[in-house]
Amino acid sequence: MPYEVNKSDEQWREELSPQEYAVLRQAGTERPFTGEYTDTKTEGVYECRACGAELFRSGTKFESHCGWPSFYDPADSDAVELIEDRAMGMVRTEVRCARCGSHLGHVFAGEGYPTPTDQRYCINSISLRLAPAGE
Ligand SMILES: [Zn+2]
Repeated sequence: MPYEVNKSDEQWREELSPQEYAVLRQAGTERPFTGEYTDTKTEGVYECRACGAELFRSGTKFESHCGWPSFYDPADSDAVELIEDRAMGMVRTEVRCARCGSHLGHVFAGEGYPTPTDQRYCINSISLRLAPAGE
């Protein structure tokens, strides 16, 4: 199924920095504890850095101590796309932006975090852009 935002690889390379491209378009992972939003508590909306779609809200961000921004629920379940990922000898669930197909991170469940969903959307900071509330 084609994404609503559908750009060529060349266009993405032009619009994104090399670091953004490596994560968003090549499913890379930023090093833990290095992303700009790992410990951010600012209220606001986290948008897809590639297409600007609203993905997560600060109210569902929690301290997972895993080194990446973690959310227990997307802003809207239609905002993200979940795909089985069998890379690296593990079965994981990849999280992508449903609007442009860019890689965001992975979602893990049943880890025992005290959140309403017991899910951890483990998202790369570089895949997001925080729009602070009231600005
Ligand atoms: Zn997107």
